[in-house]
Amino acid sequence: MMSRNILVTGAAGFLGSHLCDALLAAGDSVIGVDNLSTGRLANLSHLERESRFRFLEQDITQPFDPGKVDLVFNFASPASPIDYTRLGPETLLVGSAGTINVLEVARKYGAGFLHASTSECYGDPEVHPQVETYWGHVNPIGLRSVYDEAKRFSEAAVMAYHRYYNVDTHLVRIFNTYGPRLQPNDGRVISNFMMQALQGKPLTIYGDGSQTRSFCYVSDLIEGILRLSGSDEHLPVNIGNPDEWTILECAREVLAVTGAGTEIIFKPLPQDDPTRRRPDITKAKQLLGWEPKIKLRHGLEKSLEYFKASAQ
Ligand code: UDP
Repeated sequence: MMSRNILVTGAAGFLGSHLCDALLAAGDSVIGVDNLSTGRLANLSHLERESRFRFLEQDITQPFDPGKVDLVFNFASPASPIDYTRLGPETLLVGSAGTINVLEVARKYGAGFLHASTSECYGDPEVHPQVETYWGHVNPIGLRSVYDEAKRFSEAAVMAYHRYYNVDTHLVRIFNTYGPRLQPNDGRVISNFMMQALQGKPLTIYGDGSQTRSFCYVSDLIEGILRLSGSDEHLPVNIGNPDEWTILECAREVLAVTGAGTEIIFKPLPQDDPTRRRPDITKAKQLLGWEPKIKLRHGLEKSLEYFKASAQ
């Protein structure tokens, strides 16, 4: 197969950098774009001598032209609740003007386009587990709205570029994902718990810990995304791990994996924090022959070295 030229936005982020690695391993050439607002060059430093990789420091809210590309992965956005509430207007802009600018690149070059959407499109879901046909229960003016509505606008934009301009688009709805390169201080539950456990600090549970999440290890997620990018599906597809954990159970897993003897303390629950979340992955299984393989315990073990190095 001929080597493809692929654009990855958000390339210096957690998922973007793992995606670059997977594409390069498959023989593709990659242009990685990031404005480094939440991405970190350290996530790409191992690619410094890789001749098939080029990094472009670029804010996608400004129109840009990376040259001819065959496929685009649009992963640029602040993604953790701490980052997107700190960068609210920027998050709205990257998920609206930014997405349109990147769609224009795909349209210009007749390239495929895969957009990183999110389980946040379902908001605090009344349908459980979440199926792709569920329209969601989202607060349009709450603290999370800068992220949720930007991602929902992006889905509308992607569908419009498919319907009106015939761009070969794909939408992945990503559920909670973890692994090496997750920002140690991004406030997410896995990074917080791992860092707290390894630094001998108490684990902070928000609320009573009965809310649930379903955690996918990063390599499983990337595999699902690559398969989706090669499919004919234009409607959203959930990619995530359907193993559902309460946050209290998640804290216990982290304590078991780290061997930490630290205590658990309870803090107030943030506004609009979804009470439960679990993907229905029937569609991904049928369409892509994909399902996650790595259980939470094993994925946390695989992440331990990274968090240990970050905790020093
Ligand atoms: N959470 C927690 N303690 C923390 C960080 C997060 O109890 O130190 C909870 C948070 O309130 C939410 C869940 O863990 O219910 C997942 O939060 P995260 O920020 O990882 O992502 P979300 O799924 O909410 O976008």
